[in-house]
Amino acid sequence: MQEKQNVVIVGAGAFGLTAALALLRRGFAVTVLEQNRIGTGASGGLVGALSPYVPEAWSVRKQFQLDALLGAAAYWHGVETLSGQSVGYGRIGRFIVLPDAYEAEKAVSRIEGAKRLWQGAATWKVLPKAAMISPKAAPHGVVFETLSGRINPRAATSALAVAIRNLGGEIVENCTVQSVVTGMVHCVDQAFKTDRIVLAAGVEGLPLLAPYLGPKAVRGVKGQAAMLAVSLPANTPLINGQGIYIIPHTAGHVAVGSTSENSWDNPYETDGLLDEVIAKATAICPQLQGAEIVERWAGLRPRAPKPEPMLGQLEKGVFVATGGLKTGLAVAYRIADALADMVAGKTPDIPLDFSPKHHFTRNKK
Ligand SMILES: Cc1cc2nc3c(=O)[nH]c(=O)nc-3n(C[C@H](O)[C@H](O)[C@H](O)COP(=O)(O)OP(=O)(O)OC[C@H]3O[C@@H](n4cnc5c(N)ncnc54)[C@H](O)[C@@H]3O)c2cc1C
Repeated sequence: MQEKQNVVIVGAGAFGLTAALALLRRGFAVTVLEQNRIGTGASGGLVGALSPYVPEAWSVRKQFQLDALLGAAAYWHGVETLSGQSVGYGRIGRFIVLPDAYEAEKAVSRIEGAKRLWQGAATWKVLPKAAMISPKAAPHGVVFETLSGRINPRAATSALAVAIRNLGGEIVENCTVQSVVTGMVHCVDQAFKTDRIVLAAGVEGLPLLAPYLGPKAVRGVKGQAAMLAVSLPANTPLINGQGIYIIPHTAGHVAVGSTSENSWDNPYETDGLLDEVIAKATAICPQLQGAEIVERWAGLRPRAPKPEPMLGQLEKGVFVATGGLKTGLAVAYRIADALADMVAGKTPDIPLDFSPKHHFTRNKK
C-alpha cells in the first residue's frame, strides 16, 4: 500500500484547522502543531458574524466571500456530522440600522445590486423599523438582509478538532514551533519531518513568516468583545450599527463586539473601549439593558499587509494561510480548500489578490 503524503500545519485556529480537515479529506496524513491549546488565538473569541460585503462595486474578492457564505450551512453541517458536536451555525440574517438620510438613500440604492449580485440566494430590503431596535437608534429604518449568519467560534474550533481526530489527523498542543527549514519543523522539544508545511499561525506566527516575507508579513488589529446572558426572541437576526455587531447565539447568550484598535498597551486585556461597545449595543437594542456580562474578551485579528487573506506558496513545500482580518471565520474553509489544492500540486481558482506577491505590491493610484 502506498504511504500517505504528510503535511504539518502550524496553528490550531480557524485557518489551520479547516486546512487540516481539507487535507485529510484529500487523503493526506496531517499533524497540527499548536503552541497553546486549540482555538486560543483570534479564533477563540465570542463574536462569529458571517456577513457579506455590501452588494455594489463587485470584485472577485466579494464573490469569493459570497460563495463562502452560501456554502457555510453545508460545510458546517458536515463538520457537525463528523464531530457529533454543534458549531452554533445559523443563517439568521442581519438588521443594519440606518442612522441618517444619506445611509438610508445608499441602502435603497443597494436593493437592485443585491438582486443582481446575490442572484436570488438572499434578499436586501429596507424597512421602516424592526422589533428589538430602538427607533431612536434607527430613525431612518433598517436594512434586513437574509445572507448573514453566525457561528459560535469556540464551538466551531472544538468541533473541527474532533472531526480532524476522527479522520485520523493528529493535533499536538503546547508545541511552539521555533523554526521551519525545508523538510523539518522544530518545536521546543520535538521535531517533525515533513515535505509540506502550512504556516497558519495568526499574528504570533510572524517570526516564522518573516524569513520569507519580511517583518511586515502579518500584524494584529486588536478587538474586544463581550458575552451577555440575555434571551432575545428565537431567530432574532444579527444587528449591525454604529460600527458594532450584536449577535444572538443559542442558549440565551448574546455577543457584542468589537473594537478595532491599531495600538494598545495589552492586546489580551479589555478596557473602557469595551464598555463603550456595550453601551452602543444597549442603545441600539434596549433589551440588552442590565444583562449580566458573562465574559469580556480581547484578541488580535491577523491582518496581512492588505485586508484580504493571504494564501500561497513561499518556497517549495512551504505554504502560508493567514490574514482575513474581520472576515476570517467566514472565509477560512474556502481558503482551506484552495490551500489543499495548492498542496496537492493543483492551481486553485482564487482571487490573485490573495497571493503573497499581491500583498506586497503597491496599489495603483
Ligand atoms: C474581537 C474579534 C472579533 C472578530 N469577529 C469576527 C467575525 O465576526 N467574523 C469573522 O469572520 N471573523 C471575525 N474575527 C476574525 C477571525 O477571528 C480571524 O480572522 C480568524 O480567527 C483567524 O484565524 P487564524 O487561524 O488565522 O488565527 P488564530 O485563530 O489566531 O490561530 C493561530 C494559531 O496559531 C498558534 N500559533 C502561533 N504561533 C505559533 C507557533 N510558533 N507554534 C505553534 N502555534 C502557533 C496560535 O496560538 C493560534 O492558536 C474576529 C476577530 C477578533 C479578534
